[in-house]
Amino acid sequence: MDAIKPNLTIKKLAFPAGIVVVFWALAVVMWQASGYIQPLILFGYIGTAVGGGLGLYAVLPKKRKPIGRKVALTMAGLMLFVFVAILGQENIQFEGLWFGLFTGFAQAAVMHYLVAKVFGPLLFGRLWCGWACWTVMVLDLLPFTRPSARLPKKYEWIRYLHAGLSIGVTALLVFVFGFEGGLKGMSGITWFVIGNLFYYGLGIGLAYALKDNRAFCKYICPITAILKLTTRFALLKIRTDKNLCTDCGACAKICPMNIDIPAYTKDKTRVLSTECTLCQTCISACTTDALKMTVGFDLGGREYIQRG
Ligand code: SF4
Ligand code: SF4
Repeated sequence: MDAIKPNLTIKKLAFPAGIVVVFWALAVVMWQASGYIQPLILFGYIGTAVGGGLGLYAVLPKKRKPIGRKVALTMAGLMLFVFVAILGQENIQFEGLWFGLFTGFAQAAVMHYLVAKVFGPLLFGRLWCGWACWTVMVLDLLPFTRPSARLPKKYEWIRYLHAGLSIGVTALLVFVFGFEGGLKGMSGITWFVIGNLFYYGLGIGLAYALKDNRAFCKYICPITAILKLTTRFALLKIRTDKNLCTDCGACAKICPMNIDIPAYTKDKTRVLSTECTLCQTCISACTTDALKMTVGFDLGGREYIQRG
């Protein structure tokens, strides 16, 4: 028995360790490509924070597992919010990305979005949303961890409208009014702080109104408009072992993103939904250990259009 435990722990830690290695590899590539040391420190740190949180999640007993995610969210969220944005004086909010692209400054905001939200999701889906987002860092402290029913699909268009408005306003400011201060310096950081206070206020208000911690992520967050594009092809996804599943539905009830996991089990596919944040809440809720994180490739097809 004693000889088995260390092997089990090593097996459980293989995935978190893989995440750390992937992030550090990306960090080295970004450092070499840009010639700046900052991406090496930033992405290496974030990979260590997320991998550390995943590692804690893997080894802690079921009831204490959420601590792992809180540790990762706090470490990564604070680093990005305080050190990169406030001390580094750069607007890394959604609009900062567009100010960077429209003015031709490929700085932290552009690199951050390329790694965490465009190319990274091809590997690790929306891991960002579950383990590193500074908005979720706050929203996850709210009491509505068992989400209420999801609003009808038409409300999900608000996030695309939000993304379009953000891009439109930044384009107007840069190309029509010649305003180039939305990314760096005091005006960039003022934009970042006010924008985030608005997000936090809206996110907390919506959570209380809809009794759902993740309401902001489901209906308002403009970043999902980008994330969902490449997340469709993510290698990392949740899979159900049909032989172990008793179809109790506990995983679907607790999923913060209201994903119908048993429907995927019946279809014999992995959880293909681009709403999955790989938070692993379903895995710890399953009493038969039928769910696990897996690496693979799914083409999708009709399903993607039907379930999103
Ligand atoms: S919680 Fe586990 S056993 Fe129950 S439906 Fe989900 S995967 Fe199946
Ligand atoms: S399917 Fe599981 S991992 Fe994905 S969001 Fe729902 S609870 Fe989290």
